[in-house]
Amino acid sequence: MKTFDVVVIGGGPAGLTAALYLLRSEVRLAFVEKLSPGGQMLLTERIDNYPGFPEGIVAYELADLMAAQVKAWENSQFERFNDEVRAIETGDEMHKVRIGDEWIVAKAVVICTGAQYRRLGLPGERELTGRGVSYCALCDGNFFRDKVVAVIGGGNSALEEALYLTRLVKKLYLIHRRDDFRGAKCYQDRCFVHPKMEVLRSTIVTRVIGESEVTGITVKDVKSGKERDIDVDGVFVFVGFEPQDSFLPDNLKTDGRGFVVTDTEMCTNVPGIFAAGDIRSKNCRQVASAVGDGAVAANSAVSYLESHAK
Ligand code: NAP
Repeated sequence: MKTFDVVVIGGGPAGLTAALYLLRSEVRLAFVEKLSPGGQMLLTERIDNYPGFPEGIVAYELADLMAAQVKAWENSQFERFNDEVRAIETGDEMHKVRIGDEWIVAKAVVICTGAQYRRLGLPGERELTGRGVSYCALCDGNFFRDKVVAVIGGGNSALEEALYLTRLVKKLYLIHRRDDFRGAKCYQDRCFVHPKMEVLRSTIVTRVIGESEVTGITVKDVKSGKERDIDVDGVFVFVGFEPQDSFLPDNLKTDGRGFVVTDTEMCTNVPGIFAAGDIRSKNCRQVASAVGDGAVAANSAVSYLESHAK
């Protein structure tokens, strides 16, 4: 079994930052990423609030820059695994990590696997996913050029992706279950005056309509209780994220929603296991905060190695 000082799991901004800091500390590092580096950054077009880029930056370019910086620090002790982590078994001295069908061991593990989009569970949603129902405007927006779409959600993702979609579509319904939106005021201001956007507040979607592809949705005004059908060609769902937690060990403390509980130093309840980025139980989920988490987690992992050096 291959042995490392630290395993970083996940190649989003938290994992890439943790890997960068750990490479600079010259520990024996394993870095596990199941797809391409970038994580959720790759699901959006631009990032406007990452410091250092006053005009904003194309999201995949930022991901590429972060990945290139990690690459620049790679050393002979470094090993990259392009597969999925399936399990972690914690131990007193060493922790075991199963990557695909291979087990490796390490003194410390930094979990940065982030989160995945949440489904609404509507009738028709699962059946029509990929046939008009989407969770990624950047991936699927082009299929809806000059068409009518609905965007569901009231957070930053819904507002930001709705604004992106207005560049492609003929008309967009922005549908939110409350009157107040939780997304940033600067996005709200742009959405509410956009000529292509019709905002439906205090409205929920109860059904996605369509046989082989989406043809409409049923919406319900939560105040009046009235339901009506709206013709749309596509439905984009942005109602938050769930942790990527299928491989987490049972003894790792999580909150009620499955996110990993850490202290301010990114330490979990299990010595030698750290968590950073969106997998962590916290309120602020930003690229900037993920980067900060990654740096802190790497620092804590190095301190842990030093205090456990024999
Ligand atoms: P979010 O902030 O959790 O918002 C989810 C939205 O979906 C909320 O408006 C919520 O309504 C709604 N919702 C949840 N469950 C629903 C249901 N069953 N039916 C109808 N509506 C439902 O999620 P997010 O927008 O994906 O953002 C996730 C995190 O990433 C946040 O921390 C966000 O700030 C961050 N983010 C930041 C940026 C940026 O800074 N540019 C961009 C994207 C994401 P309620 O409001 O009623 O709860």
